[in-house]
Amino acid sequence: VLEIKRLYKSFGKLKVLNDINLNVKKGEVVAVIGPSGSGKSTLLRCIKGLERYEKGEIYFNGCKLMEKDRNFRKLQQDIGLVFQHFNLFPHMTALQNVMEGLVTVKRMDKKDAEKIALSLLKKVGLEEKKDEYPSRLSGGQKQRVAIARALAMGPKLMLFDEPTSALDPELVGEVLNVIRDLAGEGMTMIIVTHEMGFAKEIADSIVFMDKGVILEQGKVEEIFKNPRHERTKMFLEKII
Ligand code: ATP
Ligand code: MG
Repeated sequence: VLEIKRLYKSFGKLKVLNDINLNVKKGEVVAVIGPSGSGKSTLLRCIKGLERYEKGEIYFNGCKLMEKDRNFRKLQQDIGLVFQHFNLFPHMTALQNVMEGLVTVKRMDKKDAEKIALSLLKKVGLEEKKDEYPSRLSGGQKQRVAIARALAMGPKLMLFDEPTSALDPELVGEVLNVIRDLAGEGMTMIIVTHEMGFAKEIADSIVFMDKGVILEQGKVEEIFKNPRHERTKMFLEKII
């Protein structure tokens, strides 16, 4: 589904991504781990097309993602991104947040959009909160609305950027459950996370990033049992 070739990105003099190569197959769940500032969020933003990059190519479903391309917007719509800080529209209810893209981007009839949005809120367990504004939802609930909103666009690839790291510990589980269900349905996903137990459980492969490079990449068991690099070993020891 996704193929990244020799991707380079810097902010001014700061090299943030340095020759990133990554393949994600249909239905695969990839967990990206690594220290703060290693470029994990930037990588997701590049994939979603929110960030320009100097060199390299990103292919999605066999098509090259390029801003100038007429297909760019259509391809972008097939990639859902969920942020650490939810980024819901504060002046809209949960239901309106989920409907928004369907109505404005997909130009769907309001009635139809509402139906889809309701079924997605039900899927994330928030049907009864449909008329609440984000300020009246817990962090875990907000994040589930954000996931429902991303799903409304019918993505073929879901990107999660530390979806639970802004949450109180007791709210982490409800969000992980939703992501776990998605994995069970065969959604292709890239998840940046510090939840190692969760990564171990649902990921097919792990990518360890450090200072803008993918230092190590492989099956879950390999990375956790036999990290090849000292840096990976140190990182895992610190975090587990
Ligand atoms: P964290 O685990 O803390 O979220 P990260 O791995 O997601 O870290 P990034 O957010 O991708 O790291 O940032 C990588 C580097 O790029 C950091 O040094 C950061 O300061 C820098 N950076 C990120 N966004 C910008 C920006 N818009 N302008 C300038 N520098 C940036
Ligand atoms: Mg980040």
